[in-house]
Amino acid sequence: MFTPPDYLSPSSIRTFIDCPQKFKINRFDKVKEPSTWHMHLGTFVHEVLEHLYGLPHEERTVDAVKTLAGQLWTANEWEQKVLALEETVGSIKDFKVAAFTNMVNLWDLEEPAETDLDEMELKLDTEVEGVRLLGFIDRLAIDDEQSAIISDYKTGKVPNAQYKTEDETFFQLLAYALMLEASDGVPTSKLELLYLSHSTKLELAATPVKLSIAKGTIVETKENLDKACSTGEFHCNVTNLCNWCHYKKINICPAHKQ
Ligand code: SF4
Repeated sequence: MFTPPDYLSPSSIRTFIDCPQKFKINRFDKVKEPSTWHMHLGTFVHEVLEHLYGLPHEERTVDAVKTLAGQLWTANEWEQKVLALEETVGSIKDFKVAAFTNMVNLWDLEEPAETDLDEMELKLDTEVEGVRLLGFIDRLAIDDEQSAIISDYKTGKVPNAQYKTEDETFFQLLAYALMLEASDGVPTSKLELLYLSHSTKLELAATPVKLSIAKGTIVETKENLDKACSTGEFHCNVTNLCNWCHYKKINICPAHKQ
């Protein structure tokens, strides 16, 4: 009934697990979710910090962040993008303040002038257990044992351990570790999530057990997706998350259609 997609990404796997119907509407019906304030905030912060780490070590200062943020704000027309959002959370000034706060909170987590990164925005296109996966690693450093430390900036809230397990929180980075090993033969020792808005760093050792759980999730999701494609049945997973789902809002989700 539906042709399974050529490839998946860690985030599309997450979407399918959270709600197969949401995956279907997005991927097969091609109804895209509009950008949000928080998505723009995350992208702008990522962009500035990527440029910061492109500077020589001694030039990575808060003043440099200010300068880069100003340059990229204009060059990439961020004001127009924020003003074009369907829904806003605040003014342009609020956006700038929130973005700058996230950026400078990086200094609470590490000293950029003393941090070595080997790759940024590294594209990976590979197969894990026969499942083609595509993704971009925010930051990658190679440690003394020639293993990778994979890290990712987050501008959202730190997940509540009561509602999200460690395996779920780190799934994206565990998938990247599997992809890196599959494509370049580089093992990963550690995963880091840098929650900039809360100056919090979550770390996880990329142990064989953790990697094996993530591998199982990838394989199982692919099997379930293939099955849904052949039967045409994409389950509506009705949870509290529906209250934030665009497809409920625009009245096209079958579970909420009025
Ligand atoms: S509203 Fe809920 S059930 Fe419907 S697509 Fe969104 S997440 Fe799935």
